[in-house]
Amino acid sequence: MLLSVALSACGTAPEGPTWRVGDPTVEQVSAASPSPSPSPSPSPSPSLEPVPDELVPEFGDGGFATAKGSQEVIGTGRTLITYRVEVETGIEWGDVEPVTADGFAAVIDEVWHDRRSWAGSAAAPITAPEHGLADASWRFQRVSGPQYAVRVRLATPGTVDAQCAAQGYDTGGKFSCKIGNTILINLRRWLQGSPISMSVEGYHAGVINHEMGHYLGFDHMGCPGKGELAPAMMQQSMGLNGCIVNPWPYTVGGEFVTGPYLTS
Ligand SMILES: [Zn+2]
Repeated sequence: MLLSVALSACGTAPEGPTWRVGDPTVEQVSAASPSPSPSPSPSPSPSLEPVPDELVPEFGDGGFATAKGSQEVIGTGRTLITYRVEVETGIEWGDVEPVTADGFAAVIDEVWHDRRSWAGSAAAPITAPEHGLADASWRFQRVSGPQYAVRVRLATPGTVDAQCAAQGYDTGGKFSCKIGNTILINLRRWLQGSPISMSVEGYHAGVINHEMGHYLGFDHMGCPGKGELAPAMMQQSMGLNGCIVNPWPYTVGGEFVTGPYLTS
């Protein structure tokens, strides 16, 4: 049941703007460090408003549409991770702006374009025997064909609950899970962010990094110390334990944000 406990709360990952705007050290380093992404910049007014709970579509038809085309390889890490992006079909969006497969894919692609993501790992490969990793680093490429390493799906709470429960995971209508090489992202949290989130965008980066981190071999981590950045693999919305909320596996300076390995 270790995996059940570990994965059932996966959608509870992190957040960005708190430390983007709240930690002057990070801001300072960020400003001095060229980045392919604008996301380290302060963003006092997030563009995505959390969708009210009653408007979140609860069910789709269980089918999935695949994002078209492919992307260039992002990052220069040792292991190429090809990923396919899909969004559930048959969703009645009502007043909510529909999330298309291409739109979902664009968000994920953008996460890898940030050097603080796993795609920045070539600069600081990871050796972590507790996670089964030795000098590990990765690069990413989105594909749309039948050949892929991992599939990232955005699905309604009803579908996530059903598919994750079939594998023994309780996602409670809001969490995400990973089943084999399929990551199931819960539409509720995707539209709302997490309770500790300062922005929906930050949650997006956090949940993608967290769930992909599981695919890459990481288990959960704890807070390394009061006032430290929370590891991306920490279940941050279940308690920060003194850490600073953080959706990224690396700092703007390229250091891996790690913490004590949790066995449950
Ligand atoms: Zn997790």
